[in-house]
Parts: sequence; structure tokens; C-alpha cells
Amino acid sequence: MLAGSHVVVGIAAWTWVAPHLGLPPLDPRALALTTIGALLPDIDHPASWVGGHLRVISRPLAALIGHRGVTHSVLAVLACLVLLRWQGFSRGVIDPLVIGYLSHLAADLLTSSGLRLAWPLPQRQAIPLCRTGSLSESIIVAVVAVWAGLAILRLHPGVGL
Ligand SMILES: [Zn+2]
Repeated sequence: MLAGSHVVVGIAAWTWVAPHLGLPPLDPRALALTTIGALLPDIDHPASWVGGHLRVISRPLAALIGHRGVTHSVLAVLACLVLLRWQGFSRGVIDPLVIGYLSHLAADLLTSSGLRLAWPLPQRQAIPLCRTGSLSESIIVAVVAVWAGLAILRLHPGVGL
């Protein structure tokens, strides 16, 4: 999916998960961290939004591993969790980053290209509902955004007034 789609899906995922974790769904800091997490996996693609801003990382990753390799795997999620905990970050940082990251993997799973969740194993997983950048991607993201908006209004009725 495109960067904008990942941001919307990530924020939607956070607004859904945060109350279940006892965290505020509309906290700006958490939403920013979720957005970072939702964009981070595409650091393996120099033409992506994050990869374009961090070419010193994205070019070698793309050359060595390719797009949707290790950064789009369960191994990457676990490595992020271990690294963040080892560095002493709180749940207020770790949870939104990881939820954003997981939302990216879930969104890419819906594309026809799929991803290799069990990297380095070669098998790709996909629930091919759309192609990246297609109208069907926009429709899926719009449905997710409306669903998240309705969930926020249900939790915080005053937001819509
Ligand atoms: Zn991706």
C-alpha cells in the first residue's frame, strides 16, 4: 500500500487497539508514534516515503534483501520489541510503534504482492483484495477510515460536535 494508506490504517488500528490496552486512542504523541511505526517497514524501498527520506538505509536494504523482506516479517516485529524494551522505552512508546508496524504488515497482506511474514522462508502470504495504488486500495482505506471514525465517535461522543 501507499504511505498515506499506511498512515490511515495505522491510526485506525491504534484507535481500535488503544482502549483495549488502557491507553488513550487520541493522544497526539501515540498517534505520531503509530504513524512512524506504520511507515517504518517500507524503509526497504528507496521509492517509498520513508525510504526516500532515509536512502542511506533503504538503498543497501533494497540491494541486499529486496522489498518486503525482513522488514515485513514477524522477525522484524520481534526484533523491534526486543530492541525497544532493551533500550528501556515505556509501553507508551512501544505499544503505538508496534501497533503501527503490525498495521503496515496487515495492510500489505491485503495486496496482491503479499509479504513474507516468516522471512527468511520464501513463501509469501497474501489476502489479495487490492493492488498497491489501485482504486480498490483507496476503497479499503476509506472503509477503514470511516470505521475508525465511527469507533472514535462512539468512544468520545463530544469529538464530533
Ligand atoms: Zn510495505
